[in-house]
Parts: sequence; structure tokens; C-alpha cells
Amino acid sequence: MSDRKISARIYSPERPSADQLERFERFIKQHYKRDCSLEWVRDEDIGEGFKLEVGTDVYDWSVEGRLSQLQEAITSAAAAGGDVIPLLKSTVGSWTPRAVSEQTGTVVTVGDGVATVKGLSGAEYGEILLFDGGVRGMVQNITQKSLGCMLFDDGDSVKAGGKVKRTGSSAGVPVGEGFIGRVTDALGVPIDGKGEITASGYRPVESPAPGIAARQPVNRPLKTGILAIDAMFPIGRGQRELIIGDRQTGKTAIAIDAILNQKNTGVICIYVAIGQKASSVRQIVKTLEENGAMEYTTVVSAPASDPAPLQYIAPYAGCAMAEYFMRKGQDVLIVYDDLSKHAVAYRSLSLVLGRSPGREAYPGDVFYLHSRLLERSARLSAAYGGGSITALPIVETLAGNVSSYIPTNIISITDGQIFLDTSLFRAGQRPAVNVGLSVSRVGGDAMTPCLKSVSGTLRLELAQYREMKVFTQFANYLDDEMQKSLRFGEILMNILKQEQYRPYKEWEQAFIIAAASSRGLDWLPDEDFEDILRGICRSFADEHPDVIERINGGAKLSEEDRATITEFAKAAQNVK
Ligand code: ATP
Ligand code: MG
Repeated sequence: MSDRKISARIYSPERPSADQLERFERFIKQHYKRDCSLEWVRDEDIGEGFKLEVGTDVYDWSVEGRLSQLQEAITSAAAAGGDVIPLLKSTVGSWTPRAVSEQTGTVVTVGDGVATVKGLSGAEYGEILLFDGGVRGMVQNITQKSLGCMLFDDGDSVKAGGKVKRTGSSAGVPVGEGFIGRVTDALGVPIDGKGEITASGYRPVESPAPGIAARQPVNRPLKTGILAIDAMFPIGRGQRELIIGDRQTGKTAIAIDAILNQKNTGVICIYVAIGQKASSVRQIVKTLEENGAMEYTTVVSAPASDPAPLQYIAPYAGCAMAEYFMRKGQDVLIVYDDLSKHAVAYRSLSLVLGRSPGREAYPGDVFYLHSRLLERSARLSAAYGGGSITALPIVETLAGNVSSYIPTNIISITDGQIFLDTSLFRAGQRPAVNVGLSVSRVGGDAMTPCLKSVSGTLRLELAQYREMKVFTQFANYLDDEMQKSLRFGEILMNILKQEQYRPYKEWEQAFIIAAASSRGLDWLPDEDFEDILRGICRSFADEHPDVIERINGGAKLSEEDRATITEFAKAAQNVK
């Protein structure tokens, strides 16, 4: 490397004389053992003296720089109990300032959680900068003249003209087992009042997604306990399944149910709340606590009251926490609630940073914003520990419009979507899964053969029911056959209704679908459907534990077992 020239710049208000330039060159040659290409840049701000930049090192020979270095030297000498007189003497004599490892820049403008900084030419994208008062910021824009930097902390102490230092490290969060059961902000700082968290490590918030060679196919189920999802849109470990729907359609409810269902499965859960009301997040934490789910869950919260930079960073921070467990070979479920608000936070940030707005005023890289986040979900191959991150991003639509910008983006990045329908929700069909528009592209392999064998025709039967319902809507006469078919469809819709926080076990799901599809449940009334159904399941468990054992074994449901289930379901109408 020594044959390569090192580039150096000298900043001063006046052009240095040839003699001075030669002295600088000698100095650089001596220190760096390399030839240099020295360039002079006029800088009126320096006042007296000059500033020398060699590679990433800066020698501040301006009056201000020399004084601040002297001050530092005296303070540290005094703190160490040393004598400051010799230091002062040597300073007055000949004193060469040392290269400052952290460069120092100046704040030019500040506002709306964003600061423009001048003079940190070596700073990198994503690097953390330190402002006055310990305020941290992250480099987002790099131009020839300045840096755009978003501020994570309350930026009151940051003023135009203030100093900024490089830290040389990119933004990261502490990670580790200590985070399980805790609620943190977007930077991993606990906000639940339960004291400090001991971290096991530190991970950058932005990190590259695992490559193709490091992955293996998704083929292990991640059960949500929700019949409508597990039976028709099964989710596998390592999959990314979007939950999409208008506001108040039960999106969060599905994600929370999925978390509750991970109890005793060894799956670690991370719930990232972005741009929500702090009271909603509090309610969610309470629900998780009451159901014993906080024992394996971390909540990362960037509520609506947090500045946009924190809302922007929160899902990446959550993902970094998840990666820690995945790299250790564990399975993680992460919920991003929700990415529409994340995109909005990023849009406001980008506009303040002066980036040009594109479609719906989002910046051009909003697709990359979400793809680089969701690509980090994976199921690693055995050689990489076999861990996984399953992601459930949530997106809110307006009036069911899935073709607007953010929804289409995220639909194309994920492996399927659970579409929630306002009209179904209002009609009491909860969870309001729209069977026609929902899809799971990779989860099929993750389904057990048993559940697959009973639920194979469910979607088709529901589609037929929907069609027939439209068709017969205005008919004033329906023959027996048609009435029966319609009734069958209604029963199927009814079995998909499920209260919150009441997950079904796998065998219950198989039992219910097998019983309903063989017309064993046609007698059920429309009221209290779910409670009666759960009652039947309980008594079936008492009487036929052998069938349940075979279902839990995962093998295809045999004809005899299917017949047993149908008989049992039919007979249950006389039991009540
Ligand atoms: P937002 O758009 O406000 O985030 P959301 O789509 O996340 O709303 P939720 O908050 O999950 O919707 O649910 C809305 C309401 O519906 C809640 O009061 C919730 O308790 C209720 N709810 C959701 N799912 C069910 C269900 N399966 N059974 C009964 N009630 C439900
Ligand atoms: Mg919600």
C-alpha cells in the first residue's frame, strides 16, 4: 500500500506559501510513510490557523482547535493528578496537535428531528453522530457539501453552529435473552420501569439479509391457533405473511393471537408497535401479560408521540433483536404493527431531509425500505443453526384499496396475505378473513398431512358457497338441494368464527373441519356456535383420546377416524 499516494487537504482562509506547503508534505511523509497529494481549500470559517485532513484523520491547527485540545490535555492531566505546568511549558514551546480520530463538524440547520451538518466529509451512511448534550443522530443523506442527519433524542440542545462528532460506528441495538419479557423503545432502552437490561451483545439495526445458500425451504408450521388461517392459509417458520385490511378489522387481534399461541413452543416473539397510540400498546402488553405470553415476548414500542426517526428505526431494531435468536438457532415470530405508519414516518423524514417526493409523496426508495426489512426473515439452513424469523407485517388499507402504493409494494415482497374485510367484520364474521383474496404461497409445505387431508377442499367449498349466495340472493324459491348447500356453506362460515385469545389446538382444528365437511354439524344452531363446538371438542377428547393421539401424530386422517368423528358430531345434537 505504501506506493499509493495518500490524499490530503489543507483548509485555511489564505493560500499557504510554497515553503509552508512543503513543510506539510514533509510532516505527512514522516507520519504516514507515504507520498501525498496535497490540495489547498479556501475556508473562511477557520479564522487563524488551518486544518489538515489526511485520509480520515484531521489535524486541527485552527486557534479554536488548538485551544480545545489544550483544554482536553489539561483536564485529563489534572484528573490523573499530574502536574500541568510541564504540559503548559511544552505547549508554549513546540507542540504538534495529535490527529483527532473523531472528526468534528458543525451543525448548519436543525429542525423537525433532522440536522444538516457540515465538515464531516468521511462520515458514512448510517453512521451515528454525537451532537452537543449527548444527542445521537444517524447519517441519512450524504452530499458533497453537507450531511443530512436524523436525530434520535430530543434535539433541544442541538443548535446551529454547535459541534458534531463522528463515532465511527453504525446504528445498533443491544440484544440478548435479557430482552425477553421487556418493553423497550426503538433503541432498546427499557421503558417498562423494570430496571436495566443486561445485554448479551450488540447488533447493527441494518444488516444484510441471509443469502440463498444460507437458507432452507420453509416446511415447519408456525401455528396461529386461528382456524381460518391454519386450515386455509398456513404459515411456515421463516415465512412473511402480510395481514392487511382497513382500520378496525381485527389486524392486531390476529397477530396477538398468533403470539399467544406460541406458548410452550419455544418460539420467541417480538411485537414492534409503530406509530400507535401509547395506550393501545399498553393494552397489548397487558393482554400479553395476562395470558402469560410476556414470558417469551419482547415489545418494541415507537408510539405516535415518538419522533419520526424512532418510528422509522423501530422495525429494524426489532429485527436485529430477532436476528440474535435466529443466529443462535432459535425460531422467532416478529410482528410489525404497522408498516403503513412506518412508511408515513419515513415519508415525513424524507421530506424534511429534502428528498424529492414521488408517488403519493413517498420518496423513491420506499420499496427498498420494506424489502430490505422483510428479506431479513428467513429459515436458515442447518449449517447456519437452523433458526428462523417469521414475519407478520401489518398494513392498513383505505376503503379496502389494496392497489394503493404501500399495500401493493408489501404484497409483492411477502409470501402471501391475510386480507381482512370490513363488511365481514361488521356482519360478525370474526376473524374477518376474506377467503377469496387471501393467500399463503409457501406455507402449504408446512402443513401437517392430517390437517391438509381434511382442509383440502375447504376453500373451494367456501368459494362455491359465496357464488351460490350471490346467485340465489333474489330468488324467491329455493329447492331442497340448494337450501342444503347454502346451509352447508353457512356452517362452514360459522366454524371459522373464533373469539379472540381462544386458540384451537391442531387436533381441534382437524376435528372441527372433518366434522363440518362430512355434514356432521349441520344441526348446529347459529347462536353460541363456538361454545357448543368447544364443548363437543372437550367431550370428544374424553371419549376418543386414541383418535386425538393419531391426529397429533400428524399422519393423514384414516377413513375410520373420519367416520368416528362424523358419528360423534352427529350424535352430539342429542346430548346437550
Ligand atoms: P386498528 O386499525 O385500529 O389498528 P385493527 O385492525 O388492528 O385496528 P383490532 O384492534 O385488532 O383491529 O380489533 C378491533 C376490535 O375488534 C377490537 O376491539 C377487538 O377486540 C375486536 N376483535 C378483533 N378480532 C376479534 C374476534 N376474532 N372476535 C371478537 N372481537 C374481535
Ligand atoms: Mg391494530
